[in-house]
Order: sequence, then C-alpha cells, then structure tokens
Amino acid sequence: MLPAQERSVMLMKKIAKGTHRNVNYVSRLFQPQNVVPKDGIVKREDSLSKSQKLMHDLGVIRQASPGAFHLLPLGERSLQKLIRIVDDEMCKINAQKLLLPLLTSGELWKSTGRWEDIGEELFTLKDRHDRELVLSPTHEEAVTELMASIPQLSYRQLPLLLYQVTSKFRDEMRPRFGLLRGREFIMKDLYTFDTSAEAASETYKAVSKAYDNIFRRIGIQYFKVSAVTGVMGGSVSHEYHFPAAVGEAKLLICESCGYGTSLESCVPSECPECGHGFLKCCPGIEVGHTFLLGTKYSVPLKARFTTVEGKSDFLQMGSYGLGMTRILAAGVEVLSLPDEMRWPIALAPFTVCIVPPKEGSKESAVAHLAEELYHRMNSIDSFRNDLIIDNRCNMTIGKRLFEAQRTGYPFIVVIGRKALQPVPEFEVHHILMDKKASFNETALIEYL
Ligand code: ATP
Ligand code: MG
Ligand code: MG
Ligand code: MG
Repeated sequence: MLPAQERSVMLMKKIAKGTHRNVNYVSRLFQPQNVVPKDGIVKREDSLSKSQKLMHDLGVIRQASPGAFHLLPLGERSLQKLIRIVDDEMCKINAQKLLLPLLTSGELWKSTGRWEDIGEELFTLKDRHDRELVLSPTHEEAVTELMASIPQLSYRQLPLLLYQVTSKFRDEMRPRFGLLRGREFIMKDLYTFDTSAEAASETYKAVSKAYDNIFRRIGIQYFKVSAVTGVMGGSVSHEYHFPAAVGEAKLLICESCGYGTSLESCVPSECPECGHGFLKCCPGIEVGHTFLLGTKYSVPLKARFTTVEGKSDFLQMGSYGLGMTRILAAGVEVLSLPDEMRWPIALAPFTVCIVPPKEGSKESAVAHLAEELYHRMNSIDSFRNDLIIDNRCNMTIGKRLFEAQRTGYPFIVVIGRKALQPVPEFEVHHILMDKKASFNETALIEYL
C-alpha cells in the first residue's frame, strides 16, 4: 500500500473507533432505538401521539412507568437548551433562580384549601410519624411559606422574582402522549412578589414579555389566549398554546385580529376584541400559563412585608408556569413528519451532524476532513459541543444520512465526492427547509 493510502486507512480506523474524548460520536451515543421493521411500520396501539412514538423509537425518551419517563441523552440535551433560553430571558427581568423542596407538608395544602380543591390529582404520602406530605404539583404554597418565614421583609426588596426548574407530580386521570401529559414532569415556575396590585400588574407585563421572547426563540407558532384561573385562583390569567391536533385544550382564535381565548372561559360568536372577526375553534397544547394571584396565598399563609409608612401589608403575588418537558414534545409534535422526528433549531439535541465517508470508498482518503471540520466549528462559541460525527463508517453514507434525518439534526454535513477537490467542498442538508447545497469550509461555517 502507498504511504498516503496507508495513512488514510489508519485515520479512517481512528474515526470509526471514536476514540477522541472531546468529540461527540454517534457510535458512542446512548440512543436505544426501536428496530423499525422493513415496511417501516411499528405495530402498536393507535392512542400514542406522533411525538411519543418518534421520541421513543429514536431513543430520546423511555417510559419508566405510566406517565414517568427517562429522559435519555438526546432529550436531556434538548431540555438543557430550553433551560438556557429560559435562564437568559429570566436574567433580563432580574428573576433569581432557586430550588424548593419537592416534598411539602400536607398542612400547607390544607391551609390554602387546595388539599381538597386539587383532590385526587394530588400525590400524597405519609412519613414514619404518620404525617401527611405532598409531592408538589406546583409551588405556590411552598414559596409563599418561604416568604412568610422571612422577618422584616421590606418594600425596598420588592419586586422580587423567584423561579426554579424542577420536577412536578400530578396523579393525572389520563397520563398520555408521552411527555405531553406525564404524572412526573419538569416545569419552570416563577413566583413574583410586589407591594401593590398596580406594581404586580407591571411585573405581569414584564414577565409576559419575557415569555413572548422565550416562545419567539423556540420558533414555533404559538397562541397567547386569555384563560380561566381555576384552582390556582387570582384575577388575570393567560395561556400559551402550540396549535396541534393532539392538543387537549380547545381554543377560540379570532381570524381577523388574532385575539384568543380558551374555550372554558367564554362562548362568544363574534370577537370581543375587534367586534367583527369570526372566532374559530382549534385544538392546542397548553405550554405555559400565567396568573395574577393577588393575595390568595399571602393572606392564609401570612406572607407580609413592611410598607414605606412602616406598616405591615400582604404581598401581591403572580405565578408563571412553563411546561418544560411538554414544550420539547410539543415542538416535536408540531414539526415532525409521521416517520421523521424534527426539532425546532433552537432545541435540537445537536444542531449539526457530520457524516464522514464510508470505509474503503474513494472518499475515505479525505475522512480526516470530518474531524478537522468538527474541531474548527467546535472552537466557535455558537457551535461548541453542539456537533456530532456519525463515525459508523462501515455503513453507507446513504444509510447514515437517512438515520440522521430521522433523528432530526437540523443540518447534516456529508463528506462526499466534492471533498476530493483541491478546495474541498461539503454537502449540507438543511432538513427543516428541505434544501441541499455545497460549500467550502469557510462558506459552510458562514452558512450555518
Ligand atoms: P393541563 O390543562 O394540560 O392539564 P394545567 O392547566 O393543569 O395543564 P398548569 O397548572 O397551568 O397546568 O401548569 C403549568 C404548565 O405545566 C402547563 O401550562 C403545562 O405546560 C405544564 N403541565 C401541566 N400538566 C402537565 C403534565 N401532566 N405533563 C406535562 N406538563 C404539564
Ligand atoms: Mg391539569
Ligand atoms: Mg390547563
Ligand atoms: Mg394551566
């Protein structure tokens, strides 16, 4: 064998082994997949949603028990991207992140009346001393008690915005559709504390703007609708929905001005906002919910602050939830094809998948370009640790391209024939736009 050929065979073997520790390789990814039969159809119950099937079949989630799921590395990566967007927008409105315990005392829930109001959906348990506990479905009680425990809270410390990203537990009547309706799921919940109803309204506006930014960055069309406050209580409430057929919420959306409301809250034939638009009914997946609570929790739990005049007054509160794991599944639900998972670019587990040539092919002489491109892109902030190489070089390019497309990497870069040119070019598949183009390295990085 010629030395150059020998070198390329050695390089190929190294890539195929996936030995570099600081590189993400498909061969090492923990992505247990359901084997798809030749006809492409996995036979099972029809009651599964598209996102549930795809996320399970392509190794993003795995069911542990009804309504409880393992989030595998691809799912966890996507969740972390969503958390980064949320943290960034929360930082802009000076919200501070904390962690409240998931286990809360039953007494707390009895004191606000929600032990009865929430009823069977509340996951309750008893400790060894026979004391009742709740696996929290939401944290208004816990956070209000925390505020009540702080002596001498002053108006100078308000407004205060506190949020967390944690598991929530709800004994749902019908846990279904995978992450869309779990019994254990991850929520981002924000609680706000103000000195007056007017100040709380201002805070509500600021948080609503942050939520709009979050949804804009996720990049999926959403509806913001006025909603009923339900067992949460309070005066003003809005829900955020992704329109989708499997959505369990019914919305009325004005075709003329875009005004929306959840169906429970009103049945008007014509739009109450613009007065002439026709209200169309459509299904939605509730992905976020905001409430102006007033003193519903601060009064029974005695959460007070000292006013400018030195008097004591009850805190005015707001509560703002985002269904984090539901958003992941809802994004996949809206964008995917029946047998091809698609992610919003901002939440894709890896934005770019690089596919090196097949072992023994003519192109294998330039297989090293795959890792070179990886390292060059990985040194750029916006791509850092957001790339993966499908180094299973015993498989054809076509097979790996097909799999990468099914997993939903938004950009797939193939080292193919044009990589043999004096100035190598790479073939880029832009999955969400169904486009294909060739670029040299510099142009490729600019394009991505
Ligand atoms: P739904 O109407 O779907 O039952 P909810 O109105 O009971 O939701 P909220 O109490 O408003 O939910 O909770 C805030 C957010 O948490 C919701 O907007 C939703 O995105 C998410 N969420 C609620 N229940 C679940 C669940 N069982 N699984 C996953 N996410 C959920
Ligand atoms: Mg519910
Ligand atoms: Mg709801
Ligand atoms: Mg809700």
